Amino acid sequence: MRSYSLIAPAKINLYLEIIGVRPDGYHELAMILQSIGLADQIDVHSISTDSIRVHCNHPQVPTDKSNLAYRAAELMAMQFPEAFAQYGGVEISINKQIPVAAGLAGGSTNAAAVLVGIDLLWKLGLTQPELEELGRTLGSDVPFCVAGGTAIATGRGDQLSPLPSLDNIYIVLGKYRSLEVSTPWAYKTYRQQFGDSYRDSNNLAARANAVHSGAIVKAVLDKDAGEIAQKLHNDLERVVLPAYPQVLQLREVFANQEGVLGTMMSGSGPTVFALFESQQQAELVLLQVREAIIDEDLELFVTRIITHGIKVVSSV
Ligand code: ATP
Repeated sequence: MRSYSLIAPAKINLYLEIIGVRPDGYHELAMILQSIGLADQIDVHSISTDSIRVHCNHPQVPTDKSNLAYRAAELMAMQFPEAFAQYGGVEISINKQIPVAAGLAGGSTNAAAVLVGIDLLWKLGLTQPELEELGRTLGSDVPFCVAGGTAIATGRGDQLSPLPSLDNIYIVLGKYRSLEVSTPWAYKTYRQQFGDSYRDSNNLAARANAVHSGAIVKAVLDKDAGEIAQKLHNDLERVVLPAYPQVLQLREVFANQEGVLGTMMSGSGPTVFALFESQQQAELVLLQVREAIIDEDLELFVTRIITHGIKVVSSV
């Protein structure tokens, strides 16, 4: 095969707790990550020259080496030089549907798709743990994006424990097109403002692992959508909501709609999501939010929780 098309789903954070600062300077996190139906399509083709090329339909996404998909291909070429020499270069086309810099892991899921796609193109036969290990060097969210579904993530967000798949939970996402939040800014600001509260750097991993026996994990294991929605949590809301009043307002509008089980900002934002028991309720609330906030800059999507990460849709 010389070409693969892959679906690269976005993720939301059902839970994000900042435990403290690790010796390597990163934050120790306790998270629950969840794949959602909103996805990019990634096409990877073998080309005869020994170069890596990236195309994207979204003007804000770089196509040079700063694109995480490019870096994933470069990593594969470095790790597997014989396959790179044998099969040649790679052309990557990104059909971007996931809002950019939105807290939805758009770049990370593209990188995960490129790892999976090149593994297939070059017939490497890598296992899921091997793909996750490669992903870890590209970014903390990349390992999760490979297999997706529902998982507890600790460490930098790259230590994964899969949870049983959730189903039948519908989502409305709201994102202001022109608003982007830098993930490094959000964590840095959190550390400046709230770092005193986590000076204790003892037993970070053990404290993060306490999430395994927490209330939201119990709700996930019980597949209790209402209870999951009650236990949604994101520490980064403490810095992003005061800095971005539009995001706070959007969250409040969601919270006041009938049928909303719960609402929260995803990751470092600025996307806000709300959970529902039915697609019909989600679609109705989307319309109500559109009426409550008259602003063309506000993008709204209905989607649902899904049980997979990167998926091959066709090969030629
Ligand atoms: P995360 O939730 O993992 O923090 P995010 O959803 O907040 O990620 P991205 O959509 O990955 O953020 O974009 C962050 C920045 O990365 C963007 O400003 C963009 O310039 C850059 N970027 C690099 N590669 C990609 C890509 N393949 N898709 C989107 N953005 C990319």
